[in-house]
Amino acid sequence: MKTEIFYCEKCKEYTLKEVHSCGEKTIPKIPPKYSPVDKYSKYRLKYKKEEWYEKFKK
Ligand SMILES: [Zn+2]
Repeated sequence: MKTEIFYCEKCKEYTLKEVHSCGEKTIPKIPPKYSPVDKYSKYRLKYKKEEWYEKFKK
């Protein structure tokens, strides 16, 4: 299974979207702490949650 993680250089944040919520185009990048698969899924959950919060803020 392959899931790409993207990085916004403007905000210095990771996201799962090709375009960050700030409108900046992101680049594919794996977080430096990336190692085992279960940690990877934690990252996914974290970022999903953050995207949720962003939706609520607006
Ligand atoms: Zn951004």
